Amino acid sequence: MDPIWLAFLLPMAAGSGWLAACYRKVARAENDTGAPAPAAYFKSLNFLLTEQHDKALDVLVQALEQHDEDLEIQLALGGLFRRRGEIERATQLHQGLIARAGLNPEQKGQVLLELANDYYKAGLLDRSENLLLEAAARKELLEPSLHLLVQIYESEKEWKSAIGAAGRLDQITGGDLRVVIAQYHCELAEREVGAGNYPLAQAEVGKALVLDPSCARARILKGRLQAISGEHLDAVDSWSGMAGDHPEMLCEVVHLVKASSTALGTLSLFLDFLNQAIAATGDERLKLILVDHLAENGSKSEAENVLLNLVNEAASLPALHRLLQLRALDTSDSQISADYQLLCHVTGKSLSDRPGYECRFCGFQGRSLHWQCPGCRNWNTTSARPFGPLLN
Ligand SMILES: [Zn+2]
Repeated sequence: MDPIWLAFLLPMAAGSGWLAACYRKVARAENDTGAPAPAAYFKSLNFLLTEQHDKALDVLVQALEQHDEDLEIQLALGGLFRRRGEIERATQLHQGLIARAGLNPEQKGQVLLELANDYYKAGLLDRSENLLLEAAARKELLEPSLHLLVQIYESEKEWKSAIGAAGRLDQITGGDLRVVIAQYHCELAEREVGAGNYPLAQAEVGKALVLDPSCARARILKGRLQAISGEHLDAVDSWSGMAGDHPEMLCEVVHLVKASSTALGTLSLFLDFLNQAIAATGDERLKLILVDHLAENGSKSEAENVLLNLVNEAASLPALHRLLQLRALDTSDSQISADYQLLCHVTGKSLSDRPGYECRFCGFQGRSLHWQCPGCRNWNTTSARPFGPLLN
């Protein structure tokens, strides 16, 4: 039976670009013998035509398993098992291949890499790391090994190792990983801030800014460290400096600016920052912070005017919610106050269901800002989601 017919169907059965690559690999390894297609070919083709992809795959896998002498096909099968979540089956297959006599060093490296992927998927990160370090000794496997090593170090929060592996990857691929490596330095900086090692944190922030001068996270951290050492004006300068290239981040630091202004005993610094940030971005969240500030400082009518404008012009649900809260507190009529509170309950419920942040890459939604998206693991891809109009 010629496995080429069966391997041909794998990409269609799995609907996967990865499997298409496997097919090309297998096709290169096989000569076209002109042999007639086997029964399994027609059987799986029939399943495919009736859109029963899982059954088609099962038939193909069963038939291809008989070609256990062919390393390329076995590697393709192992990868297929892993893609389908059959990690134990993939691991057993690859372990069997490693034990096979007669593999040349290149083939052994390929199998090691596959096995490392199995261990990674199984959560056995230490084992995976050890195999990858071995596989990386082969030049042709260095790049895929480093890719997976970086993922492992990220999972284990081993940021120094991640910096080393990503740095090597950056050199050999010529791809720009400096932005990601800057994030690793920020991770280290935050760790040092948490431990009270401020000079070390400062050093990490400095490295991050050398790699990525516009790194918002590093600039926020720089300001935090300046504030910690009492340099509040410099801190506010650092945060204000993001208005140009990271206006979306001004809302993330406004509470820090307020704390530094309070420490300096001059809230006008905070108000200036807030007004300039609103002028630069029109960010509704900043306008609501201004409302809170006005309401806290006895300017309720001014606060209401800002809210009314937001409701009228932008049909803003958060503004309506805040307005109802203020009105409920303002009235002496208990029935009207109860009505406001009832409406407030409805708007509050609707707001609580809304995520605040969204990844532009994978669409992951969450209530807080993540520098690394928990969904797709990309860095710098989540940002604040607009509140949207009332009827959204
Ligand atoms: Zn994402």
